[in-house]
Amino acid sequence: MRILLVEDEIKISNFIERGLKEEDYIVDAASDGEKAMFLAEINPYDLIILDIMLPHVDGITICRELRKKKINTPILMLTAKDRVRDKVKGLNSGADDYLAKPFDFEELSARISALLRRNRDDKTGILKVADLELDQLRHKVKRAGKEIPLSSKEFALLEYLMLNANHVVTRTTISEHVWHEDFDSFTNVIDVFISFLRTKIDKGSNKPLIHTIHGKGYILGEE
Ligand code: CA
Repeated sequence: MRILLVEDEIKISNFIERGLKEEDYIVDAASDGEKAMFLAEINPYDLIILDIMLPHVDGITICRELRKKKINTPILMLTAKDRVRDKVKGLNSGADDYLAKPFDFEELSARISALLRRNRDDKTGILKVADLELDQLRHKVKRAGKEIPLSSKEFALLEYLMLNANHVVTRTTISEHVWHEDFDSFTNVIDVFISFLRTKIDKGSNKPLIHTIHGKGYILGEE
């Protein structure tokens, strides 16, 4: 999951970024509105955290502009104080949720998970493909009822594949949503992690779920 964090206060920005990275989100940080607009237009984010009070262009304007450009990424706004006016303005400008400063990281993290789930039919946070189950909240994976321990990177990769079940995902989109590094020069890192996942998820099953689409990428599904 890739998040754009727009916050000009360096301390708060660092605090949020560190916490999100510990939870295996990919984070791009922008400290002003112009950079935020630029990044949001060129990268496919899963969520945007947007502070209202920013230099040059404020968060409300950014939010409106993004929605005008049909960028429908969920937006969580940060308001300086518990100001009702800011909340109303934020939500009217197209934001999906808001959080008043100061906040605990845990609260932010819970709001983010809720927003990422909101756009899906299933609100339980449990992704299912055939007999494979992934619990996004508890970070647990089961195949045929048996728990499978995964490293945090393997989990993030499997989660991304399951969110896109039955659709081909390319190495480029995987690297954008699951890895921090730019993989242009050594994309076989992804192949290596796919093979780790195959060993853990598919080995011993007569119905493999992870498939290679030659020249394109990977697909997770029954066929
Ligand atoms: Ca600010």
